[in-house]
Amino acid sequence: MEEKDLVIIGGGPAGLCAAISARKKGIDVLIIDENLRPGGQLFKQIHRFFGSKEHMAGVRGFVIGEKLLKEVKELGVEVWLNSIAYGIFKDKVIGVIKDGKNILVKAKSIIISTGATENPLSFPNWTLPGVMGAGACQTMINIHRVLPGKKVLMIGSGNVGLIVSYQLLQAGAEVVGVVEIMPKIGGYLVHAAKIKRFGVPIYLSTTILEGVGKEEIEGAIICPVDENFKPIIKKKKYIEVDLICIAVGLTPLNELLYQAGCLFTYKGYLGGMVALHNENMETTVENIFVAGDCSGIEEASTAMEEGKLAGISVAEKIRGKKWEDEKDQIRKRLDDFRIGTFGEKRKLSKEEIVREYYERVKTW
Ligand SMILES: Cc1cc2nc3c(=O)[nH]c(=O)nc-3n(C[C@H](O)[C@H](O)[C@H](O)COP(=O)(O)OP(=O)(O)OC[C@H]3O[C@@H](n4cnc5c(N)ncnc54)[C@H](O)[C@@H]3O)c2cc1C
Repeated sequence: MEEKDLVIIGGGPAGLCAAISARKKGIDVLIIDENLRPGGQLFKQIHRFFGSKEHMAGVRGFVIGEKLLKEVKELGVEVWLNSIAYGIFKDKVIGVIKDGKNILVKAKSIIISTGATENPLSFPNWTLPGVMGAGACQTMINIHRVLPGKKVLMIGSGNVGLIVSYQLLQAGAEVVGVVEIMPKIGGYLVHAAKIKRFGVPIYLSTTILEGVGKEEIEGAIICPVDENFKPIIKKKKYIEVDLICIAVGLTPLNELLYQAGCLFTYKGYLGGMVALHNENMETTVENIFVAGDCSGIEEASTAMEEGKLAGISVAEKIRGKKWEDEKDQIRKRLDDFRIGTFGEKRKLSKEEIVREYYERVKTW
């Protein structure tokens, strides 16, 4: 069985930054990723990132991805692609299906940075072809260059719904509307303004009642809701569409953390159940660390910083050295990034996670 100092599961922005930080401190690193190219969500993101300059605002996601891949290559980090980590067993043995073959690899430390999964939304006919997650739709248009529909209804006005609507317009689709059950747009107004300029209506306090079609989606029935979110049926209306895109949030992809025996807590602002971890991103299972969206849904910028923090923390444990100043700077950048209404709530949730980690570890 192969043995590694550090195995990183998931080669998105969090995993790549973790690998770079650990490798720079002399750690032997292996990244495992299920795709044919590492980078996670970054290569789908053709838009300029928001945020501050230190967090690469204004730079397109795929450009950040290319920069990270170059660094990973120059540092000689080993990367297994087309490889799915399916389990973490006793003594940190990881089961991997690599190019169709079953391989076991043993690690001194593991960083889990598997990202997130899209939330589904069920309504009559939601299983027909022509209903898909906005992230899947983004993969089809920006990675595979396939337009999955010509007339699209987007459900959800968070940043994902708004950005993917804009990218569908850029790819040549007609976006007939964005439906949002809340009375306010969920994402940044700068993204909403872009689609409004194209004349796309955003229907607030509105929901989807059903998809319409026999073999595939041919339309959708949408309906305004009252202040208790109850549909006002007499106001329902039919819209002709061939694609209904669902953008109603993400959930941390954390099965491997459950399987490894980590303790969890519920944090609504971070997408649901998240693994408890300390200020070094170490979970309640010693030498298993977490970083990025799977430790709570945020953004690529925070995923990269958390990855760096986890990478340095692993190096500290393996090499028996301390890099406290470097870690403090990263924590400061994370605090600086977590501003605004959503950011503040996520910051508080992350602080609670660290507090709960120490309380639960003491009594466990
Ligand atoms: C439409 C959209 C727009 C966005 N815009 C911005 C923006 O402007 N600015 C910003 O900062 N953020 C933005 N984000 C958020 C950002 O993309 C994510 O927060 C970020 O990608 C999270 O990084 P990550 O490394 O945690 O996960 P991911 O990027 O999801 O990477 C996880 C990787 O792990 C792999 N993986 C999962 N499970 C396994 C397994 N068992 N075995 C092997 N591999 C596995 C996945 O395939 C993936 O490659 C946007 C997101 C979306 C959807």
